[in-house]
Amino acid sequence: MNTIKTTCPYCGVGCGIEATIEDHATHRVCIKGDSKHPANFGRLCSKGATLGDTVSLENRLFYPSIQGKQVDWASALDHVAERFNNIIAQHGPEAVAFYVSGQLLTEDYYVANKLMKGFIGTANIDTNSRLCMSSAVVGYKRAFGADTVPCNYEDLELAELILLVGSNAAWCHPIAFQRIRKAKETNPHLKIVVIDPRSTASCDIADLHLPVKPGMDALLFNGILAYLAQNGRIDQTYIDTHTEGFEAALQEAVKTAGSIEQVAAGCGLPSEAVATLFDWFAGTEKTVTVYSQGINQSSSGSDKCNAIINCHLASGRIGKPGMGPFSFTGQPNAMGGREVGGLANTLAAHMDLENPEHVDRVGRFWGSDKVADKQGLKAVAMFDAIAAGQIKAVWIMATNPVVSMPDADKVKRALQQCELVVVSDCIANTDTAKLAHVLLPATGWSEKDGTVTNLERRISRQRPLFPASGEAKHDWWIISQVAQRMGFSDAFNYQSSADIFREHAALSAFENDDEHQLRDFNLSAFVHLDGQGYDALQPVQWPVTNEQTAGIARMFTDGQYYTSNRKARFIPITPRPPVNAPDSDYPFTLNTGRLRDQWHTMTRTSLAAKLNAHRPEPFVEINPADAERLGLSARSLAQIESRWGSMLARVDLNPGQQIGSLFVPMHWTEQLSSHGRMGAVVNPVVDPYSGQPESKQTPAKIYAC
Ligand code: SF4
Repeated sequence: MNTIKTTCPYCGVGCGIEATIEDHATHRVCIKGDSKHPANFGRLCSKGATLGDTVSLENRLFYPSIQGKQVDWASALDHVAERFNNIIAQHGPEAVAFYVSGQLLTEDYYVANKLMKGFIGTANIDTNSRLCMSSAVVGYKRAFGADTVPCNYEDLELAELILLVGSNAAWCHPIAFQRIRKAKETNPHLKIVVIDPRSTASCDIADLHLPVKPGMDALLFNGILAYLAQNGRIDQTYIDTHTEGFEAALQEAVKTAGSIEQVAAGCGLPSEAVATLFDWFAGTEKTVTVYSQGINQSSSGSDKCNAIINCHLASGRIGKPGMGPFSFTGQPNAMGGREVGGLANTLAAHMDLENPEHVDRVGRFWGSDKVADKQGLKAVAMFDAIAAGQIKAVWIMATNPVVSMPDADKVKRALQQCELVVVSDCIANTDTAKLAHVLLPATGWSEKDGTVTNLERRISRQRPLFPASGEAKHDWWIISQVAQRMGFSDAFNYQSSADIFREHAALSAFENDDEHQLRDFNLSAFVHLDGQGYDALQPVQWPVTNEQTAGIARMFTDGQYYTSNRKARFIPITPRPPVNAPDSDYPFTLNTGRLRDQWHTMTRTSLAAKLNAHRPEPFVEINPADAERLGLSARSLAQIESRWGSMLARVDLNPGQQIGSLFVPMHWTEQLSSHGRMGAVVNPVVDPYSGQPESKQTPAKIYAC
């Protein structure tokens, strides 16, 4: 039997997998954790362990079609290229867009980004990662000068205090959480603090749970910064040597936070609990602050990230074992898409669209004089532009925005009226695929061949277990074929994913040689990687340079950052509440999130019976006191309504849910539950810097039906 090492396609933890193929014909495969993979050392969560149940051919998209009629690949590719070219000729490049996905492999992402930003000449390519980690990106770039995760999983095991902020890691990053749990068992001194409006499974190991008022995390961290200064717990040497802007950030923190009692009142927390948190943070050198969607998915998400980073810079707790700010971003390619510039506001290889030198350099590398030099439309604005008729053609790759976007009914209407909707996916019947004029079958996880980068910057290979199903092709191949037909043959003549990875590495190292570029922040070690080396690539943490071929486990160990003066920046933070506050019409705050056993819009996880058994239908969690007041009984059906839309869900009474708040899972589609699509309810407010939607705080009402 053939055992292949590959990587889990679900969350950003990026666990290694050993897949043993038992029967090629029926796609029977035995899945085990890879005991040698540094992300998981053999562990797998429920989703990873049941991957074998999801690789059947059920609901796969097998052949290309135009307007529902099966066509051959040449016809489909010609059609897409011709329609894109015609629309660009008539309306300009800003009239087209790509909406891609953190499910894409780095090589797919690279080629999509190169076509749109390098050759079509607009940055109208955004990704569902916008909904996931774009605030974390802004936080890192503002503070460090580059989108860089400083920590690694080992830091979780070395820490003596871990704050889990807006993170239900127990369900959303299960193997990373298991490592924390194990570390706590091994080290009795390790304290865990969960800062989350909900009482979640992550609280099982918490020494302290702070059910912070929704959206008020920045106030809490401003309070910590002020407390550190007031109690002589800042690291003045580190601040003086390696940072700038401390005084302004501290002044704003002191002004906005006030006393412990004032912070507690603003955050809706008991003063004693806030005092304990401050005391623990001030007194524990080895502190890691893990933050996730509860921080990022907010109209002030970027500021919350910087409020956290400020505290680590002020205490010098970064770049050292067991300490640092650590964003837990969601998707399997948590960082790969960021490295190749898959966001509408980034270029490639961590370069910037607004920097003329970067644009010139990328243009010379790609051999194009059309490289976009201004930001494109971020996800919510992109679908607004489609709705307004400004974008006339959109190509959606490996994602299901009709379900996952906020104000999802508007997204649906936008696609219904768009001139050209192209969808490439491995799944046939998604809510978004139903609206496509052109459907292109892409390879699925068990067929794909490339790399992903997990949330600790670790690049791992996804290797194919089976040949492509039906007529499915790799995403990079589909994009390259369209690019060639659009007239860009020379630049897209790839024969393999290894060709693309090598080019990506070469771009990251191209003219990357002076103090003000990301000199030591590249993949120069892979510029000459051959096919064999690519096939055998072992998990390794970006950057991987000629000087450090084994990768870099922990960033900023020398206190040198990627800003022009190599100093980290403090950002003064003025805490802001959510944009839309509950009112008498919509008195609840609706929160959304993941379940332990489902992934995104369930196109794959719903194929595993074991996973479906966990929570078989859409539900809404509500505090029993609220439910009683509204006459809602457990297991009854309730309508949840906001100013943007509505959904139907089964009532689940949960004392861990704050009074006045609701929680719904993000997963259900119209396909699976005709009125269970949470995206329809979520407000489309975004963070002004990151464009990330405020998916955690929508004013809503609930009533029996
Ligand atoms: Fe896959 Fe994430 Fe589970 Fe690991 S923790 S097995 S990457 S879903």
